[in-house]
Amino acid sequence: MAGILCVFPNRVGHLPLRHLVFYVDFNMPSPASDLSIEDLQQHIRRMYYDKDVARGIDGTFMWLMEEVGELASALRGNDRENLQEEFADVIAWLFTIANVADVNLAEALSAKYGQGCPGCHRFECECSLDEKP
Ligand SMILES: [Zn+2]
Repeated sequence: MAGILCVFPNRVGHLPLRHLVFYVDFNMPSPASDLSIEDLQQHIRRMYYDKDVARGIDGTFMWLMEEVGELASALRGNDRENLQEEFADVIAWLFTIANVADVNLAEALSAKYGQGCPGCHRFECECSLDEKP
């Protein structure tokens, strides 16, 4: 495994709090909380693509629907951590299906929503409430 160990002192003023230790593996993406949609889709592809293709779109869609059901349950509960996990699962399974169907979600989202609401073409939707934009 190619990489480099980096150690940086982390200080507030002159008080050392702890050392930050990073192992940078040049073969793996670094975990980040601000991954782009494109990055996330590639991340999911790297982890699961072969299994996803073997399962196929129909089987993968069933898993997505199961996760949507779990999200529905989480939305009715009070467990914030579980709610966050279920949102992540739904998105992950959506990326999975997009990978199998060869759809770039960043491009798809940009094409449909990048110029504002698809219905009224404004960035603050002015469609009436009984319309689905
Ligand atoms: Zn609108």
